[in-house]
Amino acid sequence: MPPTPMLDQLESGPWPSFVTGLKRLAEGDEGKAHSGIMKSLLGQLEHSYQTRKGYWKGGTVGVFGYGAGVIPRFSEVAEQYPESSEFHTLRIMPAPGFFYDTKTLRQMCDIWEEHGSGLIALHGQSGDIMFQGCRTDQVQPAWDKLNEMGFDMGGAGAGVRTAASCVGPARCEQACFDTLEAHRTIINDFTDDIHRPSLPYKLKFKFSGCANDCANATQRADVAILGTWKDDMQVDQTEVQAKVRQLGRKEFINQVIRMCPTQALGLNDDDTLDIDNKSCVRCMHCINVCTKALEPGKDRGICILVGGKRTLKIGDLMGTVVIPFMKLESEEDYEKLLELAHNMLDFFADNALEHERTGEMIERIGLVNYLEALGLPLDVNMINQPRTNSYIRTDGWEEEARKWAGRKTSAAE
Ligand code: SF4
Ligand code: SF4
Repeated sequence: MPPTPMLDQLESGPWPSFVTGLKRLAEGDEGKAHSGIMKSLLGQLEHSYQTRKGYWKGGTVGVFGYGAGVIPRFSEVAEQYPESSEFHTLRIMPAPGFFYDTKTLRQMCDIWEEHGSGLIALHGQSGDIMFQGCRTDQVQPAWDKLNEMGFDMGGAGAGVRTAASCVGPARCEQACFDTLEAHRTIINDFTDDIHRPSLPYKLKFKFSGCANDCANATQRADVAILGTWKDDMQVDQTEVQAKVRQLGRKEFINQVIRMCPTQALGLNDDDTLDIDNKSCVRCMHCINVCTKALEPGKDRGICILVGGKRTLKIGDLMGTVVIPFMKLESEEDYEKLLELAHNMLDFFADNALEHERTGEMIERIGLVNYLEALGLPLDVNMINQPRTNSYIRTDGWEEEARKWAGRKTSAAE
């Protein structure tokens, strides 16, 4: 094992460290090929920290029939660290809702220990399963085995990228549409644009079953599909009263009534809730706090936002609502969604500049022009300046980390 004094410091904080994971792979299976790769990688990483330089360069590596999905990495210090001189990543598309059984996960681990470094990230920020660390001659055999398991290679380059969806109706009572079905329908329809990138830049679809947005669609997807409802929220006033008793009136007012962004809630003298459904913007806050007492309404569907993205040219952008509500249940609803998605992709392909995301294109040409070109009705509620700050306050972060680490230790004991 190479000495890694600087990397070791990254293990000293309260949060779990990726360095510990790398060392476990390097030391756990002494003598096996992937153990050697990880030792070499740790050596190169330490060297990078010492010299404050990165030593990876790109190149071209792929598998038959695909134009995207492998991220090539060649080391510029290969002579010093030969076993990790080629450290390519395979981006494999995740199952909708990120569902896997244990057998599948074990098979993946076996494939990657045989053909790669053993290092797998579930999941990268792209949503893909990241099989990291593979030599060029092992890329095709590793891919063939993953493909035999039923998995497909995900996004890279200027095309439709791997999609991601929240767990949705499979496990979550808040889901307002079938995120898993919608994810699979879109991905199957755009397979060509995923395998063979031909757009000015990337285009991502993400699916969250409600405005809690567990798939981070609003912040990260060019086309974000979020569940919502149109009728009145469902209320069980007996459960509301129980919640008020549990929290106390003052705390209930602090945690629920005052936190409503549109002041749509009031607490009656008998501890029942008064909801002004016309003012409710379906943010999910009160439902999250009062899970038994409140539920989304029964007339459920989706809301579509476009233009979410992380930094690059004009900074972070949150998605902007372009369809406030549409149903997504029948075959016709799905056809309508696919037609709209194709129109969005075609417009992007024809009008975006090289290396420009949908949000940046809309910023340049104007939201009104984008909506008119797609034949979407304008609404005064559509903002023309999307929110750009996707950061949250992290007051008390260290304290929370200590609590979290304490919980983990006592659970292990
Ligand atoms: Fe549940 Fe909503 Fe999160 Fe999806 S986004 S997992 S439906 S809370
Ligand atoms: Fe207010 Fe949000 Fe609850 Fe609607 S869902 S009533 S906007 S807190």
